[in-house]
Amino acid sequence: SVFDSPFFDQHEYVVSHCCPESGLKAIVAIHNSQLGPAIGGCRMYPYTSGAAALDDALRLSRGMTYKSALAGLPLGGGKSVIIGDPRRHKTPELLKAMAEFINTLNGRYITAEDSGTSVEDMAIMRRTSRYVLGAENLQHIGADPSPYTARGVYLGIRAALAWRGEGDLSGKRVAIQGAGAVGAALCRLLLGAGAHVFVADPDTRRCEALQALGAVVVPVDQVLFWEADVLAPCAMGGVISPATAPKIRATVVAGAANNMLVDGHLADLLADRDILYVPDFAINAGGIMAVYSQYNGETLAELERRLETIPDALNRVFALAESGVSTHVAAERLAAERLGVPVSGPLRR
Ligand code: NAD
Repeated sequence: SVFDSPFFDQHEYVVSHCCPESGLKAIVAIHNSQLGPAIGGCRMYPYTSGAAALDDALRLSRGMTYKSALAGLPLGGGKSVIIGDPRRHKTPELLKAMAEFINTLNGRYITAEDSGTSVEDMAIMRRTSRYVLGAENLQHIGADPSPYTARGVYLGIRAALAWRGEGDLSGKRVAIQGAGAVGAALCRLLLGAGAHVFVADPDTRRCEALQALGAVVVPVDQVLFWEADVLAPCAMGGVISPATAPKIRATVVAGAANNMLVDGHLADLLADRDILYVPDFAINAGGIMAVYSQYNGETLAELERRLETIPDALNRVFALAESGVSTHVAAERLAAERLGVPVSGPLRR
């Protein structure tokens, strides 16, 4: 049941929906809407069971609450998941049914794209529901939040290096895992700042495009352990595990990948090795900031000012961590403080 899930954390509202005509099977989880409407992406994934989909919705919606709270946004945390293979099961009828499902929540939950859904899918859903963002080029912000996530990560990497007294990016070595929407944009920003960038992606075409700009392509199975100043995981979650953490050679870990730690306690292991771990949900808030700017009708200049607050939030996290907690726990505490709730423990994957 919802209450038995290891990821249940006093969620406010969890609702499932099944539409046999379109094949839709989906869950919306609203974790907390104390600070505002719950905004979070709509993920489509071939979950092997309903329980796995529920766990993901509960875990991700909690993460959104903490991310928005720490970013200073007047938003709550929510997430939706569609059970199915996006390549085989995604149809306009299914997306319309999902939008109708979201309408039943009357704006308590607002969605945008996520893994397995795209800007084009959001445009289809937007025809049926006004509670769908990430579909239009509003205020010159563009529908895709990825460039803003990359910009936030870039600013965060600079802040982390400055915190360690290592100066600016010029001549620094940064290893990026994943040359997708965020990783590629981050690579371009870093190259522009004079960094030496190493990049790995199983999609070799993506790497080749960045190689042409000056990045060095490295093997996928070695990128996490590359000799570098900064490791930027920008592929999938769970890459920092008890097996990989002891082998990381970078002195700063700062990337976009959500839930990159298999377990929040790994932040302690990294700290013990004198590696500055920049909490994922703090540094990758540029995407939700862009979605919020669309929602709030803000201009690009206002969004850019908001992105510039990411280093401030990180500096607060780093300062609190000096009291002897990991940066991960420090970020959770600062977010919980804004929510006025006790911290229930490190964010689990
Ligand atoms: P994406 O799907 O565009 O790119 C991911 C890339 O990682 C792909 O090119 C894929 O081939 C590559 N990849 C997969 N396995 C790999 C491996 N083992 N080694 C190296 N590369 C591998 O995704 P994205 O939008 O760039 O997002 C990247 C990460 O950032 C995800 O974890 C996502 O949840 C997170 N994130 C993204 C945003 C956003 O705005 N897009 C916002 C917040 C967090």
